[in-house]
Amino acid sequence: MHMRKFGTSGLFVSQLCFGAMTFGGTDGIWGQVGRLGQEDADNLIKAALEAGINLFDTANVYANGRSEEILGQSFRNLGVARDDIIIATKAAASMGPGPNMRGASRRHLLNECRASLRRLGVDHIDLYQVHAFDPATPIEETLEALDTLVRAGDVRYIGLSNWAAWQIMKAIGIACARHLAPITSVQAYYTLVGRDIEREITPMLASEGVGLMVWSPLAGGYLTGKYSGSGSGEGGRQTELDFPPINRARGEPLIEILRVVAQKHRSNPAQIAIAWLLKQSVVSTVIIGAKRVEQLRENVQATEVMLDDEDMAQLDAVSSL
Ligand code: NDP
Repeated sequence: MHMRKFGTSGLFVSQLCFGAMTFGGTDGIWGQVGRLGQEDADNLIKAALEAGINLFDTANVYANGRSEEILGQSFRNLGVARDDIIIATKAAASMGPGPNMRGASRRHLLNECRASLRRLGVDHIDLYQVHAFDPATPIEETLEALDTLVRAGDVRYIGLSNWAAWQIMKAIGIACARHLAPITSVQAYYTLVGRDIEREITPMLASEGVGLMVWSPLAGGYLTGKYSGSGSGEGGRQTELDFPPINRARGEPLIEILRVVAQKHRSNPAQIAIAWLLKQSVVSTVIIGAKRVEQLRENVQATEVMLDDEDMAQLDAVSSL
């Protein structure tokens, strides 16, 4: 597993990150995909570590905190040394009723960071990310709060997730002007069937030296090809979370090309989709979301697929903006 430099920071992260959104309960939108219990989680984390993955992503809102609890417990069950792993979590999504249980205010971020530390059972979080832009809170307040967490030693690096290009750029400028903790990374949706971030965000991240963590690299499983066409694969059912919505009219010809390229590399469509992301120099790490150890091992093998210019051109022809 190659390590990549995380933006312009001195941190090195594995080119694949393990996403723990599937750990936990079954309630609500995030619970829909969060069905795995402790034993399944332990097996997945063990396989991820064996594959050389050092970065693990979760969020306070995944299964209402259970994902963080299970992830932290897995590390303890497996006897993982704290220094061998990089833990990333997020806050800003709604954690309860009322306007103060969500967002990126000073109060909410400081409270939620403490709650995440408790649930994970650690004394610091390596990467603390603001899960979504909060239009109600001035960016200055958010950045000051994150800086407080860094200075207190609760958090090592800070990141943003799902912010628009202008919002990210504004945050970078304010952090720089006020000598606050810099923005190290951005988490965004990026797939062969969803290349919108190439318009504004990827050129801006490259220019600013900010790391990119890609979420839902298989568009929730769609790019495996098993949900395409008449859906023969899994009875035609949809991916569990259709977010962002997949443009299936564009997706179908793409899946066909993924199959062609996969055949050439004795691989499969999911591995080609991940390998394509890994070819993008702006990508620091791809957050994979396997539910089973076999899926994880398959996805890890994507790191061995070397796409050539002809493959890239074929994929571009059916996916570029
Ligand atoms: P993917 O797009 O990779 O989808 C993963 C799903 O695809 C699996 O749960 C599984 O579902 C299916 N799958 C994965 N590998 C295979 C395989 N080899 N063969 C067949 N099916 C496979 O990622 P996720 O949407 O799960 O997101 C990954 C991570 O990204 C999350 O855990 C989270 O950490 C992060 N994330 C962040 C967001 C944000 O707003 N910042 C939003 C969403 C995710 P099934 O078996 O049911 O088909």
